[in-house]
Amino acid sequence: MDTMLAGRLHLPSGAFRVEEVPVPVPGPGEVLIEVRAAGVCLSDVHLIDGSLKPFGHVEDLTLGHEVAGVVHTLGPGLLGDWTPGTRVALQA
Ligand SMILES: [Zn+2]
Repeated sequence: MDTMLAGRLHLPSGAFRVEEVPVPVPGPGEVLIEVRAAGVCLSDVHLIDGSLKPFGHVEDLTLGHEVAGVVHTLGPGLLGDWTPGTRVALQA
């Protein structure tokens, strides 16, 4: 299994760590982005201080939803003209 580094927040303890996690596999209609830069925004700060709760029941989550990078892997059934290596920025 391939792994990558991710900045993870453990919600019950409030501990933040950079950890090895499995590389996600893009699903239908998705692309996997190789993140080259990630911003930390106020949502991340509020997740850390507990004033913002994530959707669903999760104990650990990856912070940094404002990212830029390159398209790495194309998921099945993807519509549009996507090519690995294309530079992209995500709108949260
Ligand atoms: Zn944000």
